[in-house]
Amino acid sequence: MSANRYITEATQNQVRQRAKLLCEYCHASEQWQYVSFTVDHVVPLTKGGANSIDNLALACFHCNRQKSDKIVAFDEQSLSEVPLFNPRTDSWQEHFIWSTDTLLIIGLTPTGRATAAALTFNRARIINIRAADREIRRHPPPNDPTQN
Ligand SMILES: [Zn+2]
Repeated sequence: MSANRYITEATQNQVRQRAKLLCEYCHASEQWQYVSFTVDHVVPLTKGGANSIDNLALACFHCNRQKSDKIVAFDEQSLSEVPLFNPRTDSWQEHFIWSTDTLLIIGLTPTGRATAAALTFNRARIINIRAADREIRRHPPPNDPTQN
């Protein structure tokens, strides 16, 4: 029997609304994208994760692809393998902070640092996009929890 990957449109909409249209990893806003964000299985089906709303998160294409079926990543500072950030059980603000100029996501914890590295949160392309979006007040997204 194959695992059921199908997520109903109603559930996808629920995930989208809960995330306030932000990628739950890098906090990019879906609002300004050409393509819809994807619904990510936080714990992949292949690793025993469920297809339920409690195991789903909105993720941009890049984060979804980088995350793939990972659930752990390496933290260069503590030199240990640690759990990846889990948007369902972890608080973004506990693990990450925007740099003062808001162009970089800085990991505050081993999980934060390992996730920022594994999902390449601060690659050159996204830094350029954040800088351009900042000019027109789209970055950080107005509904980013750090902006309230
Ligand atoms: Zn993302």
